[in-house]
Amino acid sequence: MEEKEILIIGGGPGGYVAAIRAAQLGGKVTLVEKEELGGTCLNWGCMPTKALLRGVELLETLAMSKDFGIQVGEVSVDFPRLLARKDRAVKTLVSGVAGLMKANGIEVVKGQAKFLSPQEIEVLDEQGGKVPYRARKIILATGSLSADLPVSGARGPNVIDSNGALQLTQVPESMVIIGAGPIGLEFGTIFAALGSRVTILEMMNQILPNEDPEVASALERSLRHFKIQTHTNCQVQEIREGSEGKRKVLARTEKGDVAWEAQQVLLAVGRKANFDGLELPQAGVRFHKKGIEVNEKMETNVPGIYAIGDVTGQILLAHFAMAQGTVAAENALGHEARLERRVVPRCVYTLPEVAAVGLTEKEAQEAGYKLKVGRFPFAGNGKATILGERTGMVKMVTDAQYGEILGVHIFGPHATDLIGEAVLAMRLEGTAADVGRAIHPHPTLTEPLMEAALDVTGEALHIPPPKRG
Ligand SMILES: Cc1cc2nc3c(=O)[nH]c(=O)nc-3n(C[C@H](O)[C@H](O)[C@H](O)COP(=O)(O)OP(=O)(O)OC[C@H]3O[C@@H](n4cnc5c(N)ncnc54)[C@H](O)[C@@H]3O)c2cc1C
Repeated sequence: MEEKEILIIGGGPGGYVAAIRAAQLGGKVTLVEKEELGGTCLNWGCMPTKALLRGVELLETLAMSKDFGIQVGEVSVDFPRLLARKDRAVKTLVSGVAGLMKANGIEVVKGQAKFLSPQEIEVLDEQGGKVPYRARKIILATGSLSADLPVSGARGPNVIDSNGALQLTQVPESMVIIGAGPIGLEFGTIFAALGSRVTILEMMNQILPNEDPEVASALERSLRHFKIQTHTNCQVQEIREGSEGKRKVLARTEKGDVAWEAQQVLLAVGRKANFDGLELPQAGVRFHKKGIEVNEKMETNVPGIYAIGDVTGQILLAHFAMAQGTVAAENALGHEARLERRVVPRCVYTLPEVAAVGLTEKEAQEAGYKLKVGRFPFAGNGKATILGERTGMVKMVTDAQYGEILGVHIFGPHATDLIGEAVLAMRLEGTAADVGRAIHPHPTLTEPLMEAALDVTGEALHIPPPKRG
């Protein structure tokens, strides 16, 4: 049986980053991947969706061209070409990861891995060959799959998940999306902008149920620009055949039972940890419904076996998987690393975007803080006005006693890029004054963050002063 020092199962952002970090620290690394390097993120998640969104952004920019005195001819969408560009972008990124594996001396084995015992793995290759390996340290990074919706008809025709949405070859005339989390809203924006009539149904009482209600309701209003209809407090009961080959979605709402018909139904009701075929019990690795149990060092209950990324069921985001991957690799190589999960950004790629880090105002209140909150609208920002993208705001939640930033919530242009500054400020335990007094470049979209920080003490510069006395 071949002996390996560090064996990683799964080549998504968790697994491939763990592989690079382990190699940097001098480890001899083998990475087993059954499909393509890059995992969900590069092949079915973060990247292909953003490639489609880039096309949608271009459409939106072209729609503004008249305002700028620029005449363009009739604008139309060539969906197959948009898909082809998305595929090329994905291919470039996947081969980039393959290049990084090679450059770091990481051995990549193609095949599906399963446990034979705590130290033994068997890899089933594409030709049906079975190769056993023994490894000193094993890192599990097998990711997640779309969660099922437990209602009748959820596996019927024209009912797809996010992978199915990325395989559509035509823009559907209409689409009902079940779930108004980041994935549902992202696809809603893409298909509505490309011409679908989109309806989004959400079981909870707001879209983006985990985000600040102010941000969620501002986003909800702006989705109307794409004629997206949203319905909250809406519990889907059944999906069945409708008229003219459409699907009919029946739901219980506050107003009674309601039905919607659409050509496609997209299920975006979350993701579930994937340990399909891994045979975890053979290794004695403890797991529950949400994922594999790990401590802050990414150790499972079995010495020498670590788990990272979506399969741990903690925060199902690529950057979190990468951070976990780094920690696991360092511990596997004998270093002492712990995951810090106080400051993890969350991004929603709508137009405009949403991004947040830390606590919402309500969460901070519930945690017992006395708060001071600052806000600043993008309408008060020069750069946003120049860009013609004035919708949105920055909200900063701080602890009234020391001014420490507890949470930042952005809805507006390039929110997902802008949140990086808030991440750093919070990581350094910065205060509103630190951000408010830091000289920000002008004119940029970063200034609203500085202004929201100044607004914490009522000192924002580019909005009318608050009423005093
Ligand atoms: C539509 C969509 C959009 C998303 N957008 C974003 C975004 O914008 N930003 C963000 O941060 N996150 C986003 N995510 C989430 C992100 O994709 C995941 O959090 C991330 O990919 C998790 O990384 P991972 O390494 O844990 O797992 P994965 O990326 O899922 O990789 C797991 C890998 O393991 C392989 N594997 C599984 N079992 C075995 C086995 N037994 N043997 C060998 N190989 C195996 C799989 O083939 C896969 O390649 C999105 C997800 C979706 C679905």
